[in-house]
Amino acid sequence: MDKKTISILKKVYFHENGFYNPELDRHEHKIPDSVTQSDLNLLKDNDFSPNNFETFEHDNSLDRLLAFKSNPKLTLDFAKAMFLKGITGEFPRGRQTLMSYIYIKNLSKHNFEGKDTCEICGLPKKKTIDRTSQLYTYYLGHSWNEMPVHNLIELEEILKYEKPNSTKEDKDKLIELLDLISKSKPNETPGKLEKRIAKNKTLPKTDKYKRYGILLTLSECGILPNEFILPTYDKFSTRKEIWKASEHLKTSHRSDIVLPFGGWKGKNGVNYKRYKEIF
Ligand SMILES: [Zn+2]
Repeated sequence: MDKKTISILKKVYFHENGFYNPELDRHEHKIPDSVTQSDLNLLKDNDFSPNNFETFEHDNSLDRLLAFKSNPKLTLDFAKAMFLKGITGEFPRGRQTLMSYIYIKNLSKHNFEGKDTCEICGLPKKKTIDRTSQLYTYYLGHSWNEMPVHNLIELEEILKYEKPNSTKEDKDKLIELLDLISKSKPNETPGKLEKRIAKNKTLPKTDKYKRYGILLTLSECGILPNEFILPTYDKFSTRKEIWKASEHLKTSHRSDIVLPFGGWKGKNGVNYKRYKEIF
């Protein structure tokens, strides 16, 4: 996504411009007057038309996610090369892919359980989502682990890229980050760690929430351990299990940062063995 495309999408997707359409049960964005027809044509040519809605249903979304497991292009090598380009700031869009990859690693076929959201996998029973709006957040450099249906949108798009070559500089950036984390005092909280990383200017093109996303990915890998739940790299926890573990987190850690990173403390340090295994 080039700068021009980002700047047009920024005009469309600023917060106040969004509204919920109850008739169609979806979150839409108005096209502001400052966006011209030629802007819209450019977005269309690049496959980023605003309000590009798709209705996702549980079984179909799950099948599409499971199909990635046999996709020869989507490998751990691909996902980690993307992540490294994400943390150097060269390609912020790459930050989400490793988290999405880990999510499908131990995902398996099952029937929907629950009311609106599946209590097993977290996919919605049925939900209409603007694909462009979601992709825009990834191009800005955000990454999340809470809405797996977004992983589907992300993975379908990232595969249009070739695997980047990981350079020594890419790898050094991660080592620099982990070395900084390993110097944490035992009682350092996730929030304090984020502030220390900000102060050291270790992660280019990030803000607080983008740094949380990167740290969350390292936690999902098991590189930043926690006491409440196994990282998704080791075991697929059901949403019910995650919700239960999160309650525990709120009372003992008083953290509003989600698991598994929310359950990390300085004393948990860095699992270098896991780092070597993955990277
Ligand atoms: Zn499910």
